[in-house]
Amino acid sequence: MNLPKKKYDVCIIGSGAGGGMAAYALTQAGADVVMLEAGDVWYASKNSKMLFPNYASPRRGASTRFKPFGEFDGCEGGWEIEGEPYTTAPGTSFLWWRARMLGGRTNHWGRISLRFGPDDFKRKSIDGIGDDWPIGYEDVAPYFDRVDRLIGIYGSKEGIRNEPDGIFHPPPAPRCYEYLIKKASDKLKITCIPARRSVITKPLNGRAACHYCGQCGRGCSTRSNFSSPDVLIAPALATGKLKLITNAMAREVIIGPDGLASAVSYIDKNNGEETQVEARIIVLAASALESARLLLNSKSTRFPQGLANSSGTVGKYITDTTGGAVSGYIPAMENHVTHNEDGAGGMHVYMPWWLNNKKLDFPRGYHIEVSGGVRAPGAGFMGGIHRYPSGGGYGKKLKDDYRRYYGATISFEGRGEMVPNDDTYCEVDPNTVDRFGIPVLRFHWKWQDYELNQVKHMQETFRALIAEMGGQVFSPMPTKEQGYGIAAGGQIIHELGGTRMGNDPKTSVLNANCQAHEVKNLFVADGGPFVSQADKNPTWTILALAWRTSDYIADQMKKRAL
Ligand SMILES: Cc1cc2nc3c(=O)[nH]c(=O)nc-3n(C[C@H](O)[C@H](O)[C@H](O)COP(=O)(O)OP(=O)(O)OC[C@H]3O[C@@H](n4cnc5c(N)ncnc54)[C@H](O)[C@@H]3O)c2cc1C
Ligand code: SF4
Repeated sequence: MNLPKKKYDVCIIGSGAGGGMAAYALTQAGADVVMLEAGDVWYASKNSKMLFPNYASPRRGASTRFKPFGEFDGCEGGWEIEGEPYTTAPGTSFLWWRARMLGGRTNHWGRISLRFGPDDFKRKSIDGIGDDWPIGYEDVAPYFDRVDRLIGIYGSKEGIRNEPDGIFHPPPAPRCYEYLIKKASDKLKITCIPARRSVITKPLNGRAACHYCGQCGRGCSTRSNFSSPDVLIAPALATGKLKLITNAMAREVIIGPDGLASAVSYIDKNNGEETQVEARIIVLAASALESARLLLNSKSTRFPQGLANSSGTVGKYITDTTGGAVSGYIPAMENHVTHNEDGAGGMHVYMPWWLNNKKLDFPRGYHIEVSGGVRAPGAGFMGGIHRYPSGGGYGKKLKDDYRRYYGATISFEGRGEMVPNDDTYCEVDPNTVDRFGIPVLRFHWKWQDYELNQVKHMQETFRALIAEMGGQVFSPMPTKEQGYGIAAGGQIIHELGGTRMGNDPKTSVLNANCQAHEVKNLFVADGGPFVSQADKNPTWTILALAWRTSDYIADQMKKRAL
């Protein structure tokens, strides 16, 4: 075995939102850092297919198994990765989307960047369900401010209590269909405000402002949106303090005779050999569920249930965002006057949670994401034309219908808070290993009535909005037996928990600084420490928390406490 001689200050596993932020903050603080990343090098600024027309490819940009969101999409990975399976318990429906590349899922993500609000950290105190976090909004707020300043975000100051305002770049104006949505929302008393996305609309730290090409999902060549490699890892490398090892699949964290983490064992995917890298501090940031897997697979005589898992809570309290969607056709939008609706990638308006749960039959809220309008069409565009009033057809009539109806479709998607429950968790499958010989995860998933009633409410709201716009919905209202159309667990790709933080080592893995209760030089910097979801997408909070954790590590190193 080829053992590297060097002992680093910190080893970070994973280079996505959490790992990228930890690398940035720790190298700025002067630490000598090594990063293990399972995927290959990829920078949007060099490798993106941002302005490629779909017709440049014989496949017309259609998706592949490894590019589920389209051939030119910025992310390498997907629902299935060859040789890296996961399993589900009988009766469980769960999907796990994984990226394998420098920057992980930040190369493709929707860039919807919402701060968790004060109530989101204290839900049990408010409604008696789930658990409170050991920290509050005030602990994370300064880091949200720093993330806003460093990375950049567009939005507007609204003064909504549980939707904290940030330090925003000006938001882009609503598109045509977004004005119609705003009008219908106002009528139905649904709050509709400018979206908050990590796209810069003014130059920032040497990065150019967005030029509104609408191609964020492919990765931005001008670095105008956030991806970890261009915005965090490149400056970390520029300090000369970061050693990046790609194609390195971490297998387990090694414990020394003193009970502290001493090294990480990983497979070099270039030659299949297993090797180790030594560090004084280990930071897991391989994504929430993958970090839980690493701990569960790090068994020793001292930690027979997996590292830092004497409480048995590693892999527990996992959640995903709930998802429900309704699409429809809006006659007022057909026969568009041709105009450019590309804009800043994703949506320009959204609806934060606007109701009081005391009057509802579910405990937590959701926000609404919107899409519609015209973009450069790709393969399979306008599939399902038979659902429009003239019912499709052949030849000239079909072409005329494409022109008439393209841009007249609108979609609403709800993104809500799931409450953790005892029947939803992951564990190591004793019978299955991946192509590296590493045991894989097995998932158990159950929605409660909390989530099902919430998604029913989404369906009713979206149908009311489409009716208010004078439109027709494409699909019938799903029944209770169909779960009101709730997306499968994992399908919204916001998995959190599995190494949650808390004050009690019997019921949590990490303390309030995301430091393992049982191993003081072991930290988690992805979505694993989250105690609860929120009615918000999680990544802005992952970034802020990872920076806070890194500051704590730097401070402890300075005091020689680590
Ligand atoms: C299509 C899509 C849309 C999304 N939209 C939004 C959105 O609009 N807003 C939002 O807030 N969030 C969104 N998300 C979620 C967001 O991408 C994640 O919350 C975020 O990237 C999580 O960061 P992370 O660091 O925990 O994990 P990741 O970004 O997944 O990074 C983990 C990294 O660890 C590496 N890794 C994994 N296992 C190992 C191992 N054993 N050894 C070494 N390296 C390993 C992976 O290769 C990867 O690079 C979206 C995700 C997707 C896929
Ligand atoms: S829309 Fe803006 S941020 Fe997105 S890829 Fe185009 S230029 Fe970059």
